[in-house]
Amino acid sequence: MSDGILEVRKKSIMVKNLGCSGKGIDCDKASVSGSVSQRACVYCGARVVLNPITDAFHIVHGPIGCASYTWDIRGSLSSGSEIYRNSFSTDLREEDIIFGGAKKLAAAIDEIATKYSPKLIFVYATCIVGVIGDDVEAVCKNAEEKYKIRVIPVKAAGFSGTKRQGYKLACNAMMQLIRPHKLSEKALHNGVNILGDFNLAGEMWLIKNYFKKIGIEVVSTITGDASYETLIKAPSAALNIVQCAGSSMYLAKMMEEEFDIPFMKVSFFGIEDTSASIMRVAHMLGDASVVEKAEAFTQRESSRLRKFMEKYRPNLEGKRAAIYVGGGFKAISLIRQFNEMGIKTVVVGTQTGKKDEYEVIQSIVNDDTVILDDANPAELEFFIKQKKADILVGGVKERPLAYKLGVAFCDHNHERKHALGGYEGVENFTKEINLSINSPVWEYMTAI
Ligand code: SF4
Repeated sequence: MSDGILEVRKKSIMVKNLGCSGKGIDCDKASVSGSVSQRACVYCGARVVLNPITDAFHIVHGPIGCASYTWDIRGSLSSGSEIYRNSFSTDLREEDIIFGGAKKLAAAIDEIATKYSPKLIFVYATCIVGVIGDDVEAVCKNAEEKYKIRVIPVKAAGFSGTKRQGYKLACNAMMQLIRPHKLSEKALHNGVNILGDFNLAGEMWLIKNYFKKIGIEVVSTITGDASYETLIKAPSAALNIVQCAGSSMYLAKMMEEEFDIPFMKVSFFGIEDTSASIMRVAHMLGDASVVEKAEAFTQRESSRLRKFMEKYRPNLEGKRAAIYVGGGFKAISLIRQFNEMGIKTVVVGTQTGKKDEYEVIQSIVNDDTVILDDANPAELEFFIKQKKADILVGGVKERPLAYKLGVAFCDHNHERKHALGGYEGVENFTKEINLSINSPVWEYMTAI
C-alpha cells in the first residue's frame, strides 16, 4: 500500500498474495468517515430496486434534491406502462420542516389517487423526514383505506445505514405488497420468479426467452419490467432465482420462510455462468425433456460463442482490466468473462460485496490482483495507475475517473444501452471491450 490511502481503509484493501491487515478483507460495514465512498445513500438503494416496477407511482417525501438525484435512475425497459419514468416529490421547504410535512404528503397522495387511479404507490421518506419524524406509516395507511389501493411506505432516511440497508427496505416493501397474495397450502406452485434483474437494457426479456425455449414458465420478474399484476403472482412460483444477490437475497430468504419457495443464486453474465445457471434451474424444476432441451440449447450457444470469442482473442489477450461494481456476484462473473477473453483482472472492487463473495474473488484472481471493498476515487486512481489497467468496468460514478486517467471505460451499470447479460450480452460485451480498449484514441492520450 502507499501514500494517499487512509490507514483505517487498509483493512478493506488486499493484494491476494500479500493479504491485508486483519483476518480477510474488512467489508459489509458503514463507510469510513473522511473516505469519499462511491456508494449511494439508503434511499437511493431502496429506489433502484423498486423503481423498475413500471406501473407504480414513486413519491419522494423530502426536498426536491432527493427526487432529482434519483430521477429515472435506471435505464430499465418496460414492455407496458411508462408511469415509473415520472418522479413525484412533496418538495419539502423550510416551513414544512418546522411545522411538519405529513399534510403535504397526504395532499400529494390525494392528487395522484384522484388524477391517475393508481394501483400501487411507494412513498420514500428521506433524511429530513427521518429527522422531523412525520408519521409516514399513518399517512400511507389512511390513504390505503381511503382509496382501496396499495400505498407502501419506505422509511429510507439516507443517513440510516449503507446502500445495502436501502436494498433491505425495498425487499420489505416488496413483501408488504405480495404477502396478502400467499397461496393456500394445497395450491400448486409452478415456474420461477427472477429476482435481482432490472431489465437495464432488455436482459430480463432475454432470460425469459431462454426459459420459454426450454419449457419453464416465468411467473414474476422482480423488479425488471414488473407490474402490480405480475408481482402479486410471485407467491405461486416453485423457485426463486436470484441474479443480483446484494439487492435481492434478503427478499428470497423471506419468501422461503413465509411462502416455502426455495431459492438459488444465478448469474447470466458470461458463457460459463449463463449456461450453468440455466442447467441448474432445468435440473431443479424440469423433467427429462426440459433438461434435454436445456442441454441442447446451452451447448449450441456455448459453442457458437466460443468460436465468436476466438476471433477477438488476439486483440484482447494480455490486456489488463480493473473492475469496480456494486455487488460481489457481478464482479465474480466479470472476472470469469475476462478470463474467457484472455484479459487479466488486475484490480477488482465492489460497493457492497460480502465476505463469502470476496473469498470466491480471491480464489479466481491472480496472485498480485488488488481487491478493494467500498473504495473511494483516490484509491481507484492509485491502483488503476499502479497496475497499469487498460480498461475500467464500472458505473456512472466511475466513468469520469477512467477518462481523466486516459483509460478505456465500459459501463456495466445503470446507464448501459445494450444488453450485457445472457448469451447476446457476451457478444455485446466482447465487442465493446475490444472497441474501447483498442481505440486509437488512447495512443494520443499517452502522447499528451
Ligand atoms: S442522503 Fe438524504 S438528503 Fe441526500 S439524497 Fe439521500 S435521502 Fe436525500
